[in-house]
Amino acid sequence: MPMLSDPSIKYRPYTPLNLSDRQWPSKVLKKAPIWLSTDLRDGNQALANPMTIEQKQIFFKTLIKCGLKEIEIAYPAASDTDFNFVRGLIEEKQIPEDVWIQVLTPAREDLIKRTMDALAGCKKAIVHMYNATCPCFRDVVFRNSKEETIELAIRHTKLVRQLTDEATAKYGTQFKYEYSPETFTQTEPEFALAVCEAVKTAWGKAGLGEERIIFNLPATVEIAPPNHYADQIENFCRNISEREKIVVSLHPHNDRGQGIAAAELALLAGADRVEGCLFGNGERTGNVDIVNLALNFYTQGIPPHLDFSDLQSVIDVVTACNDLPIHPRHPYAGELVFTAFSGSHQDAIKKGFEAQRVRHAAAAETGEMQYWDIPYLPIDPADLGCTYEAVIRVNAQSGKGGIAYLVQQHLGLDLPRKMQVSFYQVVQEIADREAREMRVDDITTAFRQTYKFGGSKYEGRLVLKSFKVSSESVADGTATDEPADERRLFDGTVLVDGVLRVIRGDGNGPLSALLDALSTHLDLHYAIREYSEHSVGEGSGVKAASYVELVPALEDAKSTRKSAESWWGVGVDSDIAGSGLRAVLSAVNSAIGDRALPELKLSVGFSAKSGQADVASAIVHSLHLELPRRLQASFFEVAQRAARETDGHLSYSDLITLFQETYHYELPNTPGRVVLRKYKMENVGDNGGKQLTGDFIWDSKPRQMVGQGSGSLSAVLAVLNSQINGTLSVREYAEHSIGEGSDVKAVSYVELAYDVDGKRTTAWGVATDQDITASGLKATISATNKLEVDLKPFVDGQ
Ligand SMILES: [Zn+2]
Repeated sequence: MPMLSDPSIKYRPYTPLNLSDRQWPSKVLKKAPIWLSTDLRDGNQALANPMTIEQKQIFFKTLIKCGLKEIEIAYPAASDTDFNFVRGLIEEKQIPEDVWIQVLTPAREDLIKRTMDALAGCKKAIVHMYNATCPCFRDVVFRNSKEETIELAIRHTKLVRQLTDEATAKYGTQFKYEYSPETFTQTEPEFALAVCEAVKTAWGKAGLGEERIIFNLPATVEIAPPNHYADQIENFCRNISEREKIVVSLHPHNDRGQGIAAAELALLAGADRVEGCLFGNGERTGNVDIVNLALNFYTQGIPPHLDFSDLQSVIDVVTACNDLPIHPRHPYAGELVFTAFSGSHQDAIKKGFEAQRVRHAAAAETGEMQYWDIPYLPIDPADLGCTYEAVIRVNAQSGKGGIAYLVQQHLGLDLPRKMQVSFYQVVQEIADREAREMRVDDITTAFRQTYKFGGSKYEGRLVLKSFKVSSESVADGTATDEPADERRLFDGTVLVDGVLRVIRGDGNGPLSALLDALSTHLDLHYAIREYSEHSVGEGSGVKAASYVELVPALEDAKSTRKSAESWWGVGVDSDIAGSGLRAVLSAVNSAIGDRALPELKLSVGFSAKSGQADVASAIVHSLHLELPRRLQASFFEVAQRAARETDGHLSYSDLITLFQETYHYELPNTPGRVVLRKYKMENVGDNGGKQLTGDFIWDSKPRQMVGQGSGSLSAVLAVLNSQINGTLSVREYAEHSIGEGSDVKAVSYVELAYDVDGKRTTAWGVATDQDITASGLKATISATNKLEVDLKPFVDGQ
């Protein structure tokens, strides 16, 4: 049967109460009500599979943890499970001193007795008795008159009174009595009052404070708007006698989806207490949601006296015990309720957080309140134990602001605006292509992959392994003593498609020097259109983050600037030059895609601009030695000479052999005139001075000699200089490590100058050792042996 065009032929509206002077609409809630959880009774009876005793116990503990002080735990006369659960809690003393357990019973003598049996030995209990009072039930279900209905309530209330008095005498139990005129909202208001008055009299001992009798006024089925429920409650509160001896309790169900509204309006109307369930479980559409209601108070600045600081663990227990999910958009508890997908919302939230930080900092100084005020977030997710992780999530509708926010939160990078746009397109393409939401991990992974950022897992085809930027004004191969100009020289070792290559270039800054090197050695011609940087972190861990936009270097500067094509790159390094260089390579990796790069060729001819670096590449590739620039130049000359002798031909392996022979590098049995057999290096003085005591072999004669210097190299030079005519001095020293972990070795490069009779000669020494001091000494001795030093005559005993 379809929906009716005129539903009034089938459905009647509610009958409004004539309460023209109703007070509740102009009241304001100032305190939270007394809460009763009926999860284990009303909630449990509504489950397809009612909870086991174990589940009820877990649930009960969770309710205690949340701060509930009144808990309806069972309908003990209805099932053995419920009866035994009550017994278990009492006998195992699982009920805290300040918690009242409540049990439900209908107004039937045998069931009341069974209920009281369940409570034997309990400390604090609320006996909750109900009977239906509305006309429909009176006339149709029970065929009772009004008088009979009242008489039923009186008789059984007296029974409860008698049995509770006996239990108090026997066990010292403290009791409260709760009476529900079931279907209150469908009962004539005067009749509901009449029944309650009769029950109060029959109970005979309603008093103040904990002696108050509880009248629970259920909206057993929600059949009218919430203002009507409020009218009914206000009418009851105004007309019941001895109002101060009564706790007026609400029990709203949610058939019209207004359970929360009904509870709040009825509290305005004067009610003291609310019965409900966590997340609104319960018959049909459920009971009123206590979590929702409590957090509504909380966000008004009113303490709810319930604690949901770890809401997720409450959700976990409740969903497991009820075997019911929570809707993703359920107020406060749903998985999506703190999440913004839309770009404009994300942008507003991002700005809101920034503004709040500033506002709170100012308020902290003046001692003012630091109020929460963030667009689209009525509550701070952190108060409920949620992270901000889920606040911004990204789908195809999200804007660049949200993505930039996530990158900032998770990678610490504050992307320049144009780069945000660029990365946004990357993310949107993935989101569109895969037709799905992008989670935080997806976004950070996409960022790392796009920009080859953050570790070996995301390396691109070009990886900067080491570099040196110097400002010497030195043209390739020729050293001069002129003062340095502003040119910067870039010397780097770069992994290119898995092969170590040395590349060199110069420019007016480190980045342009790198671009020059890429152009010379790898045929990559790019220019930088935009550059920015900021610091990441604080204190000693502070790093620099750099961003570059790379464009193809075109014939003139204007078309380069206007290029429609561009690639962004990002780099982070403890050194600002390093972060810029990494950012350039990051962008270059995007630019080259899978285009083939020129392979390493050995060209030792004079004309090749890349000759020195290509030779250096061969050395770094096979020996892992990152030669200092002037050693590159020096060895290049050696290579050129060798090539001349072999008609310009020099194979790769010839070149390596040539290097090893030239510097006696890792060749066994090649002692020179001076050999250092063993040594002891000691600290002297307070300024890091060193003293070397060495067993030398000096032209085949052993000598023990001692020398001091400001460091280990100057100490060995002091020894050497004491034995020669003329002077040895260190012109350049460099070192680096080779290998990793326990295999790591130090390699030292020393260039010595030897001045004698106004003449200067120089030579390089290269050596490795496990120990960095030893590798420096070995390299120094090696260089000494290459120089024709004029040894003083040997004096015995010296
Ligand atoms: Zn109910």
